[in-house]
Amino acid sequence: MRHYFLVVLFLLSFSGGFSQSKYVVVIHGGAGNITPANLPAKRALLYKTKLKEALLSADSVLKNGGVAIDAVVAAITVLEDSPLFNAGKGAVLNAEGQVEMDASIMNGKDLNAGAVANVHHVKNPILAARAVMEKSPHVFLACRGADEFAESVGLEMRDSAYFVTERRYKIFKKLKKKEIDKHGTVGCVVLDSYGNLAAGTSTGGMMMKSFGRVGDSPVIGAGTYADNNTCAVSCTGHGEFFIRYAVAYDISALMKYKGLTLKNAASFVINGKLKKAGGEGGIIAVDKNGNFSMTFNTEGMFRGVLKEGNSPEIFMYGD
Ligand code: ASP
Repeated sequence: MRHYFLVVLFLLSFSGGFSQSKYVVVIHGGAGNITPANLPAKRALLYKTKLKEALLSADSVLKNGGVAIDAVVAAITVLEDSPLFNAGKGAVLNAEGQVEMDASIMNGKDLNAGAVANVHHVKNPILAARAVMEKSPHVFLACRGADEFAESVGLEMRDSAYFVTERRYKIFKKLKKKEIDKHGTVGCVVLDSYGNLAAGTSTGGMMMKSFGRVGDSPVIGAGTYADNNTCAVSCTGHGEFFIRYAVAYDISALMKYKGLTLKNAASFVINGKLKKAGGEGGIIAVDKNGNFSMTFNTEGMFRGVLKEGNSPEIFMYGD
């Protein structure tokens, strides 16, 4: 009998039947000048509700035995479909009044990744990024080629008007020609029950950006990175700095090569290097042991976390 029990244990450990880790989901909805004074209570509640919905959507994937990459996509599509965030519907307008969206995704299990930049029509850019990863021989597609690829694999497409909300258009009109800096990107990082890490990021980029400008969000290593041996990271902030400082990869590399904890690596990069350089923004990250970080050097960051078996927790300000 004891023999039989040991054989079953042995087989289970090879079939993935063992839950090794408690899963963790962390999301962000952009960093910036987010303070109680700038955000009316009614509007804050809308953000809170939508962030919760995104966490619960990832939770239902993981609760049913799903893997990290599926949970990342589940959370990000909820945020892309909401006009509140600067991703998918509600993305900011560039200097020419158009929406140009970027997204990327990475699987820490095999370092596979996919990204799209400057897409105009795919309803959920994160799904296009995933399709590039899984259904093309490439990592990164841009512009019309990326939209056409997304359509060719059966993803939902929309006219440009779908993405432009009245609120964004009004802000665009008001701010035209003024140098401004507005964030609202969305991202998700997940540790699943099998020890897999995954990260994804989706954005309309910086408001009033130049036509054709690409930020960090679709750049693997800058805005998104995941490696099962270290951590999964999704960034938000002033993309040019995040690209130059290879922020997402830097955090992973500090853990891998210098043995830093996630907390120390994130703080070193965001509150140290980046802040000194004048780069504003933040990150969400989770490591292979389920430790997570939501570090930012701005006044606030829309963010939330859900640990297996617990309720979602949402934060916005610098608390
Ligand atoms: N990082 C994004 C970009 O530079 C913007 C943001 O996160 O708000 O395109």
